[in-house]
Amino acid sequence: MNRLEIPKTHPRYDNLMQRERLVQFYYKGIVTISGLISHGRGEAFDYLLGEKSQPFSILAEKVSLAKVLGSRSPVISVNGNVTALADDAIIDVAKKYGIKVEANIFHWSQGRIEKIVDHFRDKGLEILGKNQTERIPGLEHDRGRCERNGIYAADTVIVPLEDGDRVEALRRMGKFVIAIDLNPLSRSARAANVTIVDDVKRTFENILKLNPDENKNEINEFDNDKNLKEAMSFIAHRLETLDWKLEL
Ligand code: ATP
Ligand code: MG
Repeated sequence: MNRLEIPKTHPRYDNLMQRERLVQFYYKGIVTISGLISHGRGEAFDYLLGEKSQPFSILAEKVSLAKVLGSRSPVISVNGNVTALADDAIIDVAKKYGIKVEANIFHWSQGRIEKIVDHFRDKGLEILGKNQTERIPGLEHDRGRCERNGIYAADTVIVPLEDGDRVEALRRMGKFVIAIDLNPLSRSARAANVTIVDDVKRTFENILKLNPDENKNEINEFDNDKNLKEAMSFIAHRLETLDWKLEL
């Protein structure tokens, strides 16, 4: 596969590079074809959010870091899209705070799990996923598979780009679930304990820069429904007030 040449001056350079990475990772067998559709849904919401982290994003990121640092056994779940889009930032966060990472995919196959695990190992981080002997109760078929010392035993799970069904099943297991999802209306967003309405790469890059000694008090005051409503009000207000005419 030839890499697509995107000139750095293109106004959507970053966005096109992200797409190009997804395509490359599709050819590597890490991203599925339906993962490309999921990305399109995310991009549409990112457009509405102004393609940057907003105050409600940053607040949820602060609360999430504080929660993770106070957890006994937190795990970051990664799928194909998350690997393609945010691998480096996740590696930095996982190493900085010693957080476990587990490959967990919707369209399960041992081969794709191995490719994700090997990708992270080649970049210097050992992650879980090759020994998924346990199951998340209530999820049919292979997509409920997880590792005994990973997601199965975790008290807090960070699930970027997750489907709502699995978020609900993890909640029923008694876990504290942190979702990362650009769509504040998705079932995942509404089912999680904390929802970070932000792009997955920006989220981990922001978390890396946060001061871990601050924000501990934010957890007690945080109200996820209120924060999701902030995100929706932001979108509505932005659409009402946007100066949408381009200067040509
Ligand atoms: P539901 O949560 O309502 O069950 P779903 O999870 O099945 O829906 P999908 O389109 O399969 O819906 O999942 C992709 C989700 O990931 C979407 O909600 C989309 O907004 C979100 N998403 C896609 N790309 C990104 C990204 N780069 N960063 C954050 N979220 C993203
Ligand atoms: Mg979802």
